[in-house]
Amino acid sequence: ATPMSIMTATGRGAQLGVLIKNAEALERFAKVDTLIVDKTGTLTEGKPKLVAVLPESGHDETEVLRLAGTLEKGSEHPLAEAIVTGAEARNVTLGKADDFEAITGKGVKGVVDGKPVALGNAKMLEELGLDGGHLVDVANTRRDEGETVMFVVLDGTVAGLVSVADPVKETTPAALRALHKLGFRIIMATGDNERTAKAVAAKLGIDEIRADVLPEDKARIISELQSQGKKVAMAGDGVNDAPALAQADVGIAMGTGADVAIESAGFTLVKGNLDGIVRARKLSVATMRNIK
Ligand code: ADP
Ligand code: MG
Repeated sequence: ATPMSIMTATGRGAQLGVLIKNAEALERFAKVDTLIVDKTGTLTEGKPKLVAVLPESGHDETEVLRLAGTLEKGSEHPLAEAIVTGAEARNVTLGKADDFEAITGKGVKGVVDGKPVALGNAKMLEELGLDGGHLVDVANTRRDEGETVMFVVLDGTVAGLVSVADPVKETTPAALRALHKLGFRIIMATGDNERTAKAVAAKLGIDEIRADVLPEDKARIISELQSQGKKVAMAGDGVNDAPALAQADVGIAMGTGADVAIESAGFTLVKGNLDGIVRARKLSVATMRNIK
């Protein structure tokens, strides 16, 4: 593309809330056929809310929420914020955890009142050699509603579960319809559970899901698609998404997301919603057409 057409597109993009890093991003995006989207914070609001606390028999709700909230004070994950805020809203007094440890893609661990406590997903339970016991059915029912379920483990046994909901952004369904019309194949990649991922994807008509992925898996999924000849764009918001944004032919960051995501991306969507991708594609195609 000529410097002039790139400058025009960059200016127009800025007016439309699409920040274009360089000419390469604009040129490459016209050729992209596959769009990978992160779930949390990209398709959804990214501000999960605590919606349920269910104790296992022999435990009570306040105890389960106190353990969960006490541990999560040490984490900066959006799920942690949902739990801490939810506990405070229910007037549960949180304590202090010792030996806090975050385990990527699984959850958190620590010691509360001298006892080992863990909180996390099925992978966390697996790591501890446990299963969800009586709570598995109710966990699955909630996942089928699109909620994210986390188990609370006290001293080697499941004490209960907490569940959070993260609503889909108002702008997401229409943006995905428009992106489909533009011919993209849309794949959702998430660290969340497969059932939860399916429930969210089904509502949105997403073509394919990759669930239970660890942050490093997102970049690997992209390089696999690239080796099959696909031209891949990735949209994400999190610190965890940065390697995938860098690996993609075009990285697209949510302006509302982490700085490192924005630094790794060719496009930044100022408002943090997917409408911007539709605009970016149109700009990209128009620019490439003008210079031919
Ligand atoms: P993503 O941002 O793609 O949804 P993450 O890798 O951040 O994925 O998290 C994946 C999963 O790991 C979460 O859905 C949750 O089950 C578990 N997890 C991660 N961090 C925490 C945490 N602080 N507390 C509880 N669970 C967590
Ligand atoms: Mg995210």
